[in-house]
Amino acid sequence: MTIRFASLGSGSKGNGTLIESGDTCLLVDCGFSVRETEKRLARLGRTGQDLSAILVTHEHSDHGRGAAALARKYGLPVYLTAGTLRGLQRDAPTGPKIICGEQEFTVGAISVTPVTVPHDAREPVQFHFTAAGRRVGVLTDLGCITPHVVNSFNGCDGLLLEANHDTAMLDKGPYPAALKRRVGGDWGHLNNDQAVQFLHAVERRCLQILVLGHISQQNNAVGLVEDAVAPLQQDLHQVHYACQEQGFDWHGID
Ligand SMILES: [Zn+2]
Ligand SMILES: [Zn+2]
Repeated sequence: MTIRFASLGSGSKGNGTLIESGDTCLLVDCGFSVRETEKRLARLGRTGQDLSAILVTHEHSDHGRGAAALARKYGLPVYLTAGTLRGLQRDAPTGPKIICGEQEFTVGAISVTPVTVPHDAREPVQFHFTAAGRRVGVLTDLGCITPHVVNSFNGCDGLLLEANHDTAMLDKGPYPAALKRRVGGDWGHLNNDQAVQFLHAVERRCLQILVLGHISQQNNAVGLVEDAVAPLQQDLHQVHYACQEQGFDWHGID
C-alpha cells in the first residue's frame, strides 16, 4: 500500500485535491459544480462513488462551493471547522463533521492533521495526511509563513505548495488596489519568493514530489515559478506544476 495524490484543478477558479491510500480516497476542497467535479474525477479514473469523504479547508468559493451538493449526491461525510461551516452559509453541508486545527482524525486508511494557517477566512486550515508510513501535505491559501506552519509540514514525502503570485506582476497587474493588498498581505496568498523561503525553512530530506499550485492566471506564470525554485532544483527530486484546467495527474509516493 502507498499514498498517492492528484488534482482536479488548482487556482482561484476552483480547487480539488485527491489523497488516496488503499480503498480510502479523500477529496480536499470542492470548488467545482457536481457536473464539473464528476468530469474532472473521470479524467483521473475515479467517480463520486470512489470517494470516502470531502474535507473543506475554508469557505472561499474556489474551495467550498461544490462540497455540499457533491456530498448530498453521493452520501459523503464533510469534514470542516466550525468557522468554515458558518462561513459557507447557503453552501454549508448538512450533517457536517466538525474538526479543529491540530487535532488529528482518521478516515479509513488515512490519518489527517488539520493545520491552522493565516488566511482571510473564518477558521482556515490546511492538511497533512499519513498512510503507509508516508506523509503528503496540502498547503495553499496562506498569506505568510508562520513557525507553526513550518513545524507542521516538516518531513513530508509529497507536497502541494502554493506559489500564487509574482510580486511585480501583482503590482503592475489589473487587480484593484484593495484586492492587490489583500492577495499580497499576510492573510492573503504566498508569492513565489515566500514559497521558496518555505522550502528553505521546512525539513524536506524525505520530499520526493513537490507540486507548486494555486498559481494565479493573472499575476503569475509557470516560467516565473520555475525560475524561483531553480536554485533549489538540484536537491528537489521531482517538481511539477498544477494548473487551473488540468490540475495534475496521480503521483504515488514510493
Ligand atoms: Zn483559494
Ligand atoms: Zn482562500
